[in-house]
Amino acid sequence: MSENKKNIAILGSTGSIGTQALDVIRANPDSFVVEVLTGNGNADLLIKQAIEFNPNSVVIADESKYAYVKEALQSYDIKVFAGNKAIAEIVQMDSVNMVLAAIVGYAGLESTISAIKAGKQIALANKETLVVAGDLVTNLAKEKGVNLYPVDSEHSAIFQCLAGEFHNPIEKIYLTASGGPFRGKDKNFLATVKKEQALKHPNWEMGAKITIDSASLMNKGLEVIEAKWLFNLKPEQIDVIVHPQSIVHSLVQFTDGSMKAQMGLPDMKLPIQYALGYPNRMKSDFPRFSFFNYPQLTFEQVDTKTFRNLALAFEAMNKGGNSPCILNAANEIAVNAFLKDKIGFLEMSDVVEKCLQTVSFIAKPSYDDYVETDLATRQFANELI
Ligand code: NDP
Ligand code: MG
Repeated sequence: MSENKKNIAILGSTGSIGTQALDVIRANPDSFVVEVLTGNGNADLLIKQAIEFNPNSVVIADESKYAYVKEALQSYDIKVFAGNKAIAEIVQMDSVNMVLAAIVGYAGLESTISAIKAGKQIALANKETLVVAGDLVTNLAKEKGVNLYPVDSEHSAIFQCLAGEFHNPIEKIYLTASGGPFRGKDKNFLATVKKEQALKHPNWEMGAKITIDSASLMNKGLEVIEAKWLFNLKPEQIDVIVHPQSIVHSLVQFTDGSMKAQMGLPDMKLPIQYALGYPNRMKSDFPRFSFFNYPQLTFEQVDTKTFRNLALAFEAMNKGGNSPCILNAANEIAVNAFLKDKIGFLEMSDVVEKCLQTVSFIAKPSYDDYVETDLATRQFANELI
């Protein structure tokens, strides 16, 4: 292990967050060492990253690509493994200090829990982990003395506003939402939109799943639930405000009425670097904000009648138990079906709503209950499609 450097396992290194994390690490070689890289379908990029960063190990989740990756890396001193079980094991390695959880969706849950069990610090991008099993995950982190450093820009903003304020109670938080590509549109318009339109986000470049979630406002719904668990809030302490410029990344209101916001250009490298480098703010050459490019910052109410996903997420959070797990699984199936042109944009909400109504409710789920709920919901959602 290197002195004074953080040894990092990057789960989902071939994705949008993963590659940007590697940009941050490439620019800060004195602060970080890459210990583990993992990918799923993109074996070529995983191989390229491995050759550049020379990690201890790489894992390709898609086991059918194991031989290909192994062969490509055979002349390097890099161990190669395959499968999600291997990811969950490798994060427990002694030489890993911090795990960046940047796998997308429910698939990231097991490895994140495994890393927390081993006492690793977590930089958390995979919001679905907290949506599905927020109670288990946060209790386990507390028990193990593990910090969950948010990577999601809104939650990083809240976390940055809370620095030096951890002893002061929060009155409420405002999560900002860009409103996505369909802000201001009505249901007639949404009924006809195609994936190409939904995949064009005005302010952020991200993986396909979260980009669709941003267009449907499910992303904000997942973030509301994520915030509840990260900051130990009651549902009524969380509000969403549309802010199309994505400069104010979120706000905290304290019990004296004072509000703090964190601002900056929309660039995920900033929250990634803050999470990896915490408690230090490391220098960066990211583009700086100019007031003259943004003469106006505007705020408006969110339209939960048109964008029902956000209302459904609030409902699931209020109901608690395995409801957010049902919401998440139904949404993953619905988004996948929308991306394959099997259902329309508005039908994604129908699938989520029907699953919430139908899949059995469990008030105090165990880990196995979550696994079962996820599976049962996927089956039912697929039947609806
Ligand atoms: P991407 O789709 O770009 O990347 C996902 C990563 O996970 C890839 O490395 C992918 O591998 C891997 N992966 C996909 N499926 C599996 C699986 N079944 N098992 C193991 N690995 C898998 O997603 P993003 O980077 O956009 O998002 C990652 C997470 O971060 C999400 O939870 C998202 O909500 C969150 N997030 C993302 C933001 C962003 O700006 N992108 C902002 C805030 C949060 P491969 O590509 O090789 O198939
Ligand atoms: Mg976000």
